[in-house]
Amino acid sequence: MIFKLVIHLLVIIFLTAFTQIGGIVYFLVIIGLKNFDKKMKLVVFFVVYFLMTFAVVPYISPYFGRVKITNSDDLQPRSFFYILTNRNYVVPEMNEVLQSVAINFEKNNPGTKLIYLDANFPFFNGFPLLPHLSHNDGKKIDVTLMYKDGGKLTNRKPSISGYGVYEGPTKNEYNQIDVCKHKGFWQYDFPKYLTLGRINRDIEFSNKANRELISLFLKQQKVGEIFIEPHLKSRLKLNNSKIRFHGCQAVRHDDHIHVQLR
Ligand SMILES: [Zn+2]
Repeated sequence: MIFKLVIHLLVIIFLTAFTQIGGIVYFLVIIGLKNFDKKMKLVVFFVVYFLMTFAVVPYISPYFGRVKITNSDDLQPRSFFYILTNRNYVVPEMNEVLQSVAINFEKNNPGTKLIYLDANFPFFNGFPLLPHLSHNDGKKIDVTLMYKDGGKLTNRKPSISGYGVYEGPTKNEYNQIDVCKHKGFWQYDFPKYLTLGRINRDIEFSNKANRELISLFLKQQKVGEIFIEPHLKSRLKLNNSKIRFHGCQAVRHDDHIHVQLR
């Protein structure tokens, strides 16, 4: 009995941390369908979870000051996973910033898409979207870097999740990663375990496209800070005070770009 309770509790904690609403849906299903068999509970859980995620939460979240990111031909999540887990909510101003940057980038580079990763959950300021502690107020988002394939820009990315494949410093560039790891911040390059698989080994980091993309974000009045690794900031010649170093207690930012509003 106690063992069962502990398992239920762990599932609730895991689902809450991962999807925000999954834990409460699970709790209601196990309480409400107490006398039904496991299979039935599982089916009902998935039906209710999908209904909530796609038909209820997007309509309630605006009352909590967040909207679901509006996807288009120019702006898309790295995978359906980000939508399925409710990790695609932002304040309305961030949605506008993303639309504007995506449209302008595509205008100069036809066929390219702005691809986003973790944003925020739909409800409650202060509720973090793990493992990103700061993604807790609707004002933060991670977007993927831009890559080229034989001189032409491509929408392909080097990892399945969108995280964890680094554009590391060259021998002559400042190596913040070594500095942080020598100081004992072992977690600094932890995202290398979060790739879910390395793919598209033939694509290459594009200096020009990444500089252009970050410049578009910098031009947005409402953008307050952008995090990328120091060696990329200097390689891309981005001398803007909005680009900050996030500190060794965070994780390295040469696999994605973190953008936050004022
Ligand atoms: Zn971030």
